[in-house]
Amino acid sequence: MHTDEDHIFDLIVIGTGTAASTTAHECSSAGWKVAIIDSLSFGGTCALRGCDPKKVLVEAVKVVDSAQRHQNKGVLGSDKVHIKWSDLIRFKRTFTEPFPKHREEGYKKAGIVPFHGHAQFIGWNAIRVEGEEKGNNKNSIVLNGKKILVATGAKPVGLSIPGSANITTSDQFLEFEEDHLPNRILFVGGGYISFEFAHIAARAGAKVTILHRGKQPLEHFDPDLVNLLVQRSQDIGIDIHLQSAVEKIDKSSDGGSYAVHYSNGPVVSNNNNNDNSQNKTTKRIECDMVVHGAGRIPNVEGLDLAAAGIEHTMRGIKVNEYLQSVSNPSVYAAGDVAASGGLPLTPVATYEGRLVATNLVKGNVLKSNYSGLPSVVFAIPPLASVGMQEKEAKEAGFRFRIKYENTASWASSRRLGETCSGFKVLIEKDSDRILGAHILGPHAEEVINIFSMAIRLGLTAKELEDPLLYTYPTNSSDIVYML
Ligand SMILES: Cc1cc2nc3c(=O)[nH]c(=O)nc-3n(C[C@H](O)[C@H](O)[C@H](O)COP(=O)(O)OP(=O)(O)OC[C@H]3O[C@@H](n4cnc5c(N)ncnc54)[C@H](O)[C@@H]3O)c2cc1C
Repeated sequence: MHTDEDHIFDLIVIGTGTAASTTAHECSSAGWKVAIIDSLSFGGTCALRGCDPKKVLVEAVKVVDSAQRHQNKGVLGSDKVHIKWSDLIRFKRTFTEPFPKHREEGYKKAGIVPFHGHAQFIGWNAIRVEGEEKGNNKNSIVLNGKKILVATGAKPVGLSIPGSANITTSDQFLEFEEDHLPNRILFVGGGYISFEFAHIAARAGAKVTILHRGKQPLEHFDPDLVNLLVQRSQDIGIDIHLQSAVEKIDKSSDGGSYAVHYSNGPVVSNNNNNDNSQNKTTKRIECDMVVHGAGRIPNVEGLDLAAAGIEHTMRGIKVNEYLQSVSNPSVYAAGDVAASGGLPLTPVATYEGRLVATNLVKGNVLKSNYSGLPSVVFAIPPLASVGMQEKEAKEAGFRFRIKYENTASWASSRRLGETCSGFKVLIEKDSDRILGAHILGPHAEEVINIFSMAIRLGLTAKELEDPLLYTYPTNSSDIVYML
């Protein structure tokens, strides 16, 4: 196949999110000729449709929650503080709208060549970029890369139920720009996106329901702390139905509302042939918006990975510990699309983007290591976690002590009027190392970083206590009481 000299690159990067941009910039700084492609506006999920815009909404509804928590505690007018949704979305746009242009200018300044369009493999080192249609012609171009990075992120998992077309994605929820949110909002799935959006929507005045298939929502978080957060969620009016699998979504004839049908009862796992259908009941809930919070899957659709011999599974592109494709050595994968063992989170995308850049420029020298990776549910209050869960540590045979406490009576919660807080820390008996830390309460999303550092650097509980001087009075200064 003939390829124009201008279209031969040392590295082609598919995607312009966190992982893609990190690798592109680092390889370009090392003198590589780099191309970068995206089918959507440049910037990726975190900046445009994920973490960053969501946090703008969370911070606003925190003001409402804080005002309510301070009612009768010296703050007047708490009951008048409320959200005007359209203004909040307009404020959010001041972050998202300028972003694609800045990102593209950043690429150009760095000498990275940007392409807008859908990328698809047409050979082991060749990619076709299909641009926007112009008249009857599709603007199509072929690029050749000595190396290729796939960093195409993730997308909502398809729900194979009747009426699934009626569901609102997280992207659409973040773009909803009416004066008010719909009155009744139902979230399908009880993962972190559902909980975060449910907490936002409830504080913005909506009546919120979460339907979750399993016995425990927020499955990757500590069950004792999750129970406290569930209680707090219910206290602010969120209805949470567990063991409730959505089966059908009907739209009303006037198109203004939905009936969500779900089966309620123990969930049968795929390898369990027992028919327990007689234990289930079918129920329905009426609502005005149904939001997808049922999980995300690696975005490999339309890439034609087979054309480049790139193996993948449901977890994403199969990579070795250098994040190189196990079946095509010219190809690397990073971020949500890689089956790397890291969670689908922005810090992982950044870390993997850096790791791939080093391995490309210097040869495979760095292996991935996800120890001490923190994650947060930005509910109000937030729930944060790093390292091992109690069950996991027990199953792995560790000898450890646990410190678990409900901290609602501690001054750090009481002065904020917060009645929902707690922590659980696991410390290995022989080494005194932190195995896991789980925190629910004000500023948990910040305090968890100290535990993350301790786990990643192998610090002991004693070292977190003794030589360190924490600012006071802060939630970090509580750490010494958690050890
Ligand atoms: C609602 C929401 C909230 C989140 N909140 C948090 C949070 O608080 N903290 C956190 O750490 N993580 C959060 N995440 C997850 C985080 O956003 C992702 O882990 C991260 O953005 C992944 O980055 P990435 O570089 O792998 O891919 P992405 O940023 O998803 O970028 C992939 C890019 O590839 C492009 N692309 C895909 N296929 C093609 C193709 N064939 N051709 C051309 N371009 C293509 C896409 O258009 C996209 O721009 C959240 C996610 C969502 C959806």
